[in-house]
Amino acid sequence: MKSIESCDRAWHDNFKKYTEFIVASPAYKGLFYERKADGTIKWVVTGKSKHGKLRQAWWDAACRRLGIPIDKGCYAIAARMIHPTKIHVCQCCGKPLSILYVYPNKNLLKSVNNYFGINLRQSDYTIFEIIDKYCFTQECLDFIAGRFHLRNGLDSSVLKKQIKDKFTDKCLKPLSPGAMSNCPDRFDGYHSDGLCCRERTDKGRHSDNMKTYMQDRRAYEEWSDGNYNLANRLMGEFHKGNKTYMCPICHKKKRMTADHIGPVSLGFRHHLYFAPMCQSCNSSKNNRFNYKDVQTLREIENNGGEVISWHSKYLWDKLKCVVYDDESAKVASRIMATNHQNILFIFSEIWKATGEEYLIRFLHPEYSLVDYRFNNFDPFDLSKIEIISKEVDSKNKRKNQERYIRVAFESLSEFSMKGNRRAKSYYSQVENEVHKVIGLIKNGDYDKADKLLNMSIAHLGNLIFDAEWPY
Ligand SMILES: [Zn+2]
Ligand SMILES: [Zn+2]
Repeated sequence: MKSIESCDRAWHDNFKKYTEFIVASPAYKGLFYERKADGTIKWVVTGKSKHGKLRQAWWDAACRRLGIPIDKGCYAIAARMIHPTKIHVCQCCGKPLSILYVYPNKNLLKSVNNYFGINLRQSDYTIFEIIDKYCFTQECLDFIAGRFHLRNGLDSSVLKKQIKDKFTDKCLKPLSPGAMSNCPDRFDGYHSDGLCCRERTDKGRHSDNMKTYMQDRRAYEEWSDGNYNLANRLMGEFHKGNKTYMCPICHKKKRMTADHIGPVSLGFRHHLYFAPMCQSCNSSKNNRFNYKDVQTLREIENNGGEVISWHSKYLWDKLKCVVYDDESAKVASRIMATNHQNILFIFSEIWKATGEEYLIRFLHPEYSLVDYRFNNFDPFDLSKIEIISKEVDSKNKRKNQERYIRVAFESLSEFSMKGNRRAKSYYSQVENEVHKVIGLIKNGDYDKADKLLNMSIAHLGNLIFDAEWPY
């Protein structure tokens, strides 16, 4: 995988066609533009430049002509009224999207995805399409109506009409337009990246993709090693866009999701070794590995890759050599899950006794401060991918960093409240060692504490292996 600093985004062909269509439209007669040396239109001017002022004067005149009082937001109204097709084309991906408020905003999308158990992105469907595609019962219609504070019992055509009249036409929450206004900088008065690509191009926003969100949360909760930020971004690439592929498991043509070869809940790293498969095959794999996965993971390790988090390495090294078929792989998965739950329990005991200072050394908040984009992404061949990384220190990145640390410690506090009920507990057999670790931490002797912690984890691994490996 090669890495370059940053790159300029080329215009999508559809966007080129769109710019030609728009400048030729009589709706924009007299609005300033010029062409670059290569013949393409210079779409963007800066607001305060000479050319920016020319454009602004045109928009001012347009507002007067349309009877829109000049104030904050007047250009957005004018741009919407003037636009000849109301369809904007995304500069990045070429996707045509409505400039009207017809797409779910982030909150609405989240609840729709939750309610229907789906994984839509904001730009996939308009609210009207969502109603047509997913609402087959009155209960579903009432759910949507509730989100718009409309009454229950409306049939789908009445519901759609009320949403259109009361929300779409008034540009109200919980809806979003397919392109944000940006007047007079852009010729058509709209940001060139559509809603489809804003998450990726707008550094101030992070992906709203539920699946990614749940996945990265899980990696933090499990105290996984690995560059979680890069792994999250790469996972997100799998469910971007509508491209469908033949699922290697069920052989149906579907959108792909990323499945970790070696799940984080068993102690594996949040690494970049993903297998593409459809959502339903992914869900039914259910945090296990099979014999083929073990072989793949060993091969990755033989080639210098890292797959397992430090805290689970001891048991993995023991198990990976003795697994010999799917059935024994299944047993090994179960053993690793038990081991991992016990390790988290040890962490939670340390946290209760000593606070965050010692344990935070096992987290990697520095990974948050990098932005990633990808070229040559192919879900079935990640070897060709080009990772473009850029260091950023923004408020938003700091927030991600804080969230990562918070989620990790919250999971320990939950653990200590619930006790270790999720798996068979071996803790009592290593309790004395853990208390010694805690003593060393309290004395500030972190090096010795590290050594003893590793020894108790190895001890724990042996106990579990001896008790639960039947072969
Ligand atoms: Zn796009
Ligand atoms: Zn499938």
